[in-house]
Amino acid sequence: MNESVTTLFEGWRPKVIFWDMWMTLGMSHCREPIGEAQVILSPMQLPIGANRHPIPTGDFLRFCLTNPTNDEVTFAEEASTTFGWDLEPHRLDAFKTLIGKEKNCIALFPEVQEVLDFVQSLGFRQGIISNLWAFPSGRLFTDTVLSRYFTRQDIICSFEVRHPKPDREIFEEACRRFNVRPEDCLMIGDNLTADIKGALSCGMKAALIDRQINVDPMELTRLSEDGYPPVLYMTDLKALRSYLSLCPVSSGWRV
Ligand SMILES: [Mg+2]
Repeated sequence: MNESVTTLFEGWRPKVIFWDMWMTLGMSHCREPIGEAQVILSPMQLPIGANRHPIPTGDFLRFCLTNPTNDEVTFAEEASTTFGWDLEPHRLDAFKTLIGKEKNCIALFPEVQEVLDFVQSLGFRQGIISNLWAFPSGRLFTDTVLSRYFTRQDIICSFEVRHPKPDREIFEEACRRFNVRPEDCLMIGDNLTADIKGALSCGMKAALIDRQINVDPMELTRLSEDGYPPVLYMTDLKALRSYLSLCPVSSGWRV
């Protein structure tokens, strides 16, 4: 166990544990649907990422993550108007097909239910802070085991708040929903910028899940050199159990 992280958890008990969704609790069968959506809707050539999927432009990504529309025709029309693209019929048909798949895209990681059970058994309140467009949200939060642990109110989505991580507004909205201060929260996520730096910047503590082991450890060292609290590093969510077991027991806030 990392000593500085161990010390952190020995003296501190988060009032709320917030989870990132994608690549933390689950993954999408559609892989990179927003890049695919831009390929379909726009005339642009997009760069291809290391995973061989197209990388959307920053402005299109933000448009998708902050648009509350879950009707694919309205969404495609708004995107085309916003970016000055011609919405030809074959593009709209292809977009409808993509969104049809995206609505059923979720697969939770195998250890997730066991870990959520454990966290719940220790009396921690739990929420989700997700960069998400509206299309998969219906099935994602009602037809999966996530509904056993999270009410819809516990799930803070960028498409509703109109701000994606790492914007501080989405973390502040999460604190408002749970009526807690940022310093009483732990954010767990896989993305160093969106989840970890975003949470630390607004005053939360953070834990990184690095399943692919592709985060440079120097990045975490730099964060602590910048004065942020130590970040818990994990390659498997089960590791969280030993750290949370170090926390002081509840002091009356449990609900
Ligand atoms: Mg993620």
